[in-house]
Amino acid sequence: MMTTTDVFVIGGGPAGLATAIAARQRGFDVVVADGAQPPIDKPCGEGLMPDGRAALEKLGIGIPAEVAHPFRGIRFVSGGLSVDASFPNGAGQGVRRTVLHSIMVARAEAAGVSLLWHTPVTGLHPEGVLLGEQIVRSRWVVGADGGHSLVRHWAGLDRYRYDRTRFAFRRHYRVSPWSDCMELHWGPSCQIYVTPVAADEICVVLISSDPHLRLDVVLTAFPELVARLRGAEPSSAERGAISATRKLHRVYQGRVALVGDASGTVDAITGEGLCLSFRQAEVLAECFAAGSLERYQQVHRELARRPALMARLMLTLDWKTSFRQRVMRAFGSDPRLFGRMLAMHVGALSPMDFATNGLSLGWRVLSA
Ligand SMILES: Cc1cc2nc3c(=O)[nH]c(=O)nc-3n(C[C@H](O)[C@H](O)[C@H](O)COP(=O)(O)OP(=O)(O)OC[C@H]3O[C@@H](n4cnc5c(N)ncnc54)[C@H](O)[C@@H]3O)c2cc1C
Repeated sequence: MMTTTDVFVIGGGPAGLATAIAARQRGFDVVVADGAQPPIDKPCGEGLMPDGRAALEKLGIGIPAEVAHPFRGIRFVSGGLSVDASFPNGAGQGVRRTVLHSIMVARAEAAGVSLLWHTPVTGLHPEGVLLGEQIVRSRWVVGADGGHSLVRHWAGLDRYRYDRTRFAFRRHYRVSPWSDCMELHWGPSCQIYVTPVAADEICVVLISSDPHLRLDVVLTAFPELVARLRGAEPSSAERGAISATRKLHRVYQGRVALVGDASGTVDAITGEGLCLSFRQAEVLAECFAAGSLERYQQVHRELARRPALMARLMLTLDWKTSFRQRVMRAFGSDPRLFGRMLAMHVGALSPMDFATNGLSLGWRVLSA
């Protein structure tokens, strides 16, 4: 067992693996330790937006078409109305979480990352990390241990600016995708989103503020989905997860930096969590190379700004059905508005263009 390394990554989920690969690309010796065994599954909407795919490509990772399913854009469905638009910067991909994890593990192995599975990290040490009694000395330590991060706590970084919690439940169904979009169905105080993940499989996620709400019960409020899923066999068990909105005061302390969900989260409704992790990983590795984490704090905040704004905007539609239906009618009266909102969502539109779009949308909502 190695006792010294340049970078020790705690957590081998998407964020940890992305950081490990990005650090290896800059020539560092990297160890990743995870308490679980790959391929690691996690309830997730399994949608990779075009900006997320681009970030993965920088890490040398492409998802082969035969293990994923493309989607050209997003479709909103609410109360008998629907609106859709294509991404301006390429297609998204739906990919099973276990498949994505296997591909990232293979890339990390090929890049020369040392991977320790079934190896929970038990604490931090002034010079590195603790694996039980053993100390592994490391110049940099990365906390990529997810939303319930212990590293965050150990490093004294557990101070949030804002924390909202929603509850998600995910299940797969064996059925051919009926749409070339990722779909977001709006219901009474909840949303269901549907991602095509294979030619014969979809991923369905329910998100709401009610921890007791379950897919089978709530589906009855979504007649279009009920019709689509009639006769479709579930191909996985329903699994729950927390979807939190959490912004940390600081994302590093000394030699320890947080990345991915450990470093803060945006509501799952954005489908941007993976992309955010991959981008943070790139910047963090640049900071290791520069010998200072100061820039990481600043860029981390900048990266989170757009997804956080989009989450807030999208969740205003959850406020009142009548308001949402007005917005849907406004989008319907000028479909370019929805297209521009989507472009903003995936980073293809500037904040200035967005402000202009917001004004046009506001006007249309008032007159809808
Ligand atoms: C319901 C839902 C739907 C979502 N849908 C989408 C979507 O469609 N698109 C998208 O881009 N994002 C989506 N997201 C967000 C995305 O899933 C997360 O941002 C992403 O999983 C973050 O990865 P991570 O590596 O930070 O954390 P995780 O995937 O949670 O990985 C953390 C890892 O750390 C390990 N670990 C924990 N403690 C220790 C320890 N002490 N020692 C060693 N290992 C440890 C765990 O075993 C785990 O493997 C969704 C999230 C939710 C909740």
